[in-house]
Amino acid sequence: MFIGSGLNIPYALTLLYYIFGSLYAIFFLSPSLTVVSLFVLHYIWISLANGILYHRFLSHRSFEMHPFLQYFLLLGGLIGYLGSPYEYVIVHRYHHKNSDKDVDPHSPKKNLFWANILWLFFYDKNKVLMHKKLAKDLENNRLIKLGNNPFLMRTLHIFYALFLYFSFDITAVFWGLTLPNFLSFQFNWMAIASLCHWRRFKSKKTVFYDTGDNSLNIHWLTVLSFGESLHHNHHYKPGYANFDHQQREIDFGFIILKLLSKLNLVWDLKVCQKS
Ligand SMILES: [Zn+2]
Ligand SMILES: [Zn+2]
Repeated sequence: MFIGSGLNIPYALTLLYYIFGSLYAIFFLSPSLTVVSLFVLHYIWISLANGILYHRFLSHRSFEMHPFLQYFLLLGGLIGYLGSPYEYVIVHRYHHKNSDKDVDPHSPKKNLFWANILWLFFYDKNKVLMHKKLAKDLENNRLIKLGNNPFLMRTLHIFYALFLYFSFDITAVFWGLTLPNFLSFQFNWMAIASLCHWRRFKSKKTVFYDTGDNSLNIHWLTVLSFGESLHHNHHYKPGYANFDHQQREIDFGFIILKLLSKLNLVWDLKVCQKS
C-alpha cells in the first residue's frame, strides 16, 4: 500500500543525498562550537515540527495550538524536508488503522530496512491521495494547504542552505541542515515506524496492552525522539497528547507541551493519567 510499481526517482535522490550528506558531515567536516549549537537548535526545531505539529496536533488532534506556533513549526517541517503534512496525516492514520497488517506501508514484518527507509524509495503519492478521506477534517485547513506545496518546501530549503553558506560556510550547511534533518527524520519518525514495531526490541520495562499490533516502547530513545518512542502507549491511546503511561516513563514532547501551555501557545491538552 502506498508503494508504486517503480522507483520514485525524486524521493530516492533526496534520500541518497541525505544519507551520503550526513556521512560526509560526520566523517569529513569539523564543526565549530557555533555550528554545533546550530545543529542542536535545528534538531530540536525539526523534531518538534514532526512530533508536536505533524503527529500529535494534525494527525491526532490531541490539543489546540496557537496559529503562530503552528506556522513556526510548519516552517521547521518544510525546512526539515518532512514533506506534505497532508500526506503525513493520511499515511499515519492509515498506519494506525492497519498496523502490522500486510497493507501497513512500513511494518518491519516485511523487513526492518524496508520499514525504516526503503519503502520511501517507492513512495506513491497518488496511492496515498486515494485515501484522502482519512484526512477529510483537514481538507480546508489553511496550514495544510500551505504545507502541501512542494515548490515552497524546496525553495525554503534552498534559501536556508544559502543563508547558512553565506553566513558561515559549507560545514554549517551539512552540520546545521543536512545532518540534523536526517537524524531528526530517523529518531522521530523512521526509527519509530520500524524499531518500535520490531518485536526483537521488546523490553522488560514495557507494560503491554492489547493493541492487536507489534508496537512497543523503546525507553532509551525517549530523549532523542522527544517521547515518540513510547510508541506502544501511543498505539493503545492514540488520542492523548502524552505518551507516558507509567510513573517511570518520561515523555519530553509532553513536557514541552506543558511548558507551551503555560505560555498559552497550546491548550485543551487531552491527558492520559499515569498509573
Ligand atoms: Zn506505529
Ligand atoms: Zn500516531
